[in-house]
Amino acid sequence: MSAAADAARFGPALDLVQGRVTLAHGAGGRATAALIAQVFLPALGNAWLHSADDGVVLPALGERLVMATDAHVVSPLFFPGGDIGRLAVHGTLNDVAMMGARPLYLSASFVLEEGLPLADLVRIVTGMGAAAQEAGVPVVCADTKVVERGKGDGVFISTTGVGALPAGRDLGGARAQAGDAVLVSGSIGRHGMAILAARGELGLALSVTSDSADLSGLVASLLDAVPTVRVLRDPTRGGVAATLNEIAHQSQCGIWLDEASLPVDAAVQSACELLGLDPLNLACEGRVLVVCPAEAKAAALETLRRHPLGAGAACIGACVAEPPGVVQMRTRLGGTRLIDWLSADPLPRIC
Ligand code: MG
Repeated sequence: MSAAADAARFGPALDLVQGRVTLAHGAGGRATAALIAQVFLPALGNAWLHSADDGVVLPALGERLVMATDAHVVSPLFFPGGDIGRLAVHGTLNDVAMMGARPLYLSASFVLEEGLPLADLVRIVTGMGAAAQEAGVPVVCADTKVVERGKGDGVFISTTGVGALPAGRDLGGARAQAGDAVLVSGSIGRHGMAILAARGELGLALSVTSDSADLSGLVASLLDAVPTVRVLRDPTRGGVAATLNEIAHQSQCGIWLDEASLPVDAAVQSACELLGLDPLNLACEGRVLVVCPAEAKAAALETLRRHPLGAGAACIGACVAEPPGVVQMRTRLGGTRLIDWLSADPLPRIC
């Protein structure tokens, strides 16, 4: 059924310019049907979503599936370089891709706060639909709930992704080995800094945009060219520091970083210095950390750099045997610094 036919059937027409989300939109009645028909289906619609059953029937996907899920609570909802809708698509697609799988399907669950402007919701869902279409991964099932004013913060979006894992491909943090190279696909910290700037708490005018992007194409080229890659992980919440600590902990390798080789954009670097932040702790949403055998390093870097999302790729360090599970950095001044997990979250709700 076309969106127009749905709208006619489930009228009255919503005021998508001045209107707001009400509790009735989550009550499962005619208002819910109108919201689905006039907001969600036009932006996200596909044959699966239009089927309007309790679940969706998908074709068999092969021997091994990868599934990943992520809740998105970013504040503010709109930021330079993206919005919560696009982020909710990219975040989950990227987690599926980090496992070496080709993302195929997404589900989405929306928790809306009473009073959210419908125009904002349309903008968010439209961004989400565009991101899903660019990635070629449809949102095949979705759910919407509404909570009372003050019980949410506009909108929270949870997405789940499913992908197919080719035979013989096994990636994971535990696979890192002493001697391996550690690469990153581009400059770090942009998403975290863009969110901080968008909150307007810095008193700074920053020209930093989020790096939010679908990495599945970049990852597919890399794995085609360099099948010996051992670990892929996107340094999202907690940044490169937390992600490398996870890999060091899982593999019981040590990791040495080289500060001079860390790619950091000048605007992010200077804002970090001003604010006493470390780019290693700032989230990325369009970068991948790669651990591969040292002999594959050159081919991996070359493949990453050929892709628009990997143009700034760099080798930033190496895995070592001792001390196990510890991440350290050689500083520009020739010193040594422990790169630990942060014990508290200095930047809540960045994704
Ligand atoms: Mg991840």
